[in-house]
Amino acid sequence: MIDNQTLQRLTEQWSLALFHRPFTHQIMFNARLQTTGGRYHLNDHHIDINPHLVAEYGMDVLQGIVVHELCHYHLHLQGLGHQHRDADFKRLLVQTGGLRYAPPRQQRVAKYVYQCQKCHRQYPKQRRIQAWRYRCRFCRGKIKLI
Ligand SMILES: [Zn+2]
Ligand SMILES: [Zn+2]
Repeated sequence: MIDNQTLQRLTEQWSLALFHRPFTHQIMFNARLQTTGGRYHLNDHHIDINPHLVAEYGMDVLQGIVVHELCHYHLHLQGLGHQHRDADFKRLLVQTGGLRYAPPRQQRVAKYVYQCQKCHRQYPKQRRIQAWRYRCRFCRGKIKLI
C-alpha cells in the first residue's frame, strides 16, 4: 500500500501525462470512504481516495479512480461540465481512460476507523478496540477513533 506522499506524486504525474495540466491541490487516502472510489471537493479542490479499494484491487484501479477524480477536477477548474451527466465529463473520461464505476468491495466494510494522531495513517477495524493499548505501526504515535 502506498502512502499519501506517493499518491500525491503519482497524481501529479498522471495529471501532466494524461491531461497536460498540473494538479496543484491535495490528494489523500480517506478510510471513511466505503464504496465510492474517490471524491473531489468543489470547495477546496482536494481529492479523497478510498484506500480499501486500492488494497483490494491494486494500482490499475487506483489509477482509474484517480483519473476519474481528475476529470471532475480539471473540468471544474476550467468552468466546464464537471458532473457525471455532462457531455464534457463523459468525453474526457473516455479520452483519459478513467474508470466509470468503482469496482465493488469484496471485503467487509470497516465499522470503525482509527487514526494516528502524529502521521495520520488510518487503521480500519471491524470492531471497537481499546485504542490506548495500541500504537501506530509506522511512527509509534497514539491512535484515536475518528
Ligand atoms: Zn465522479
Ligand atoms: Zn503514525
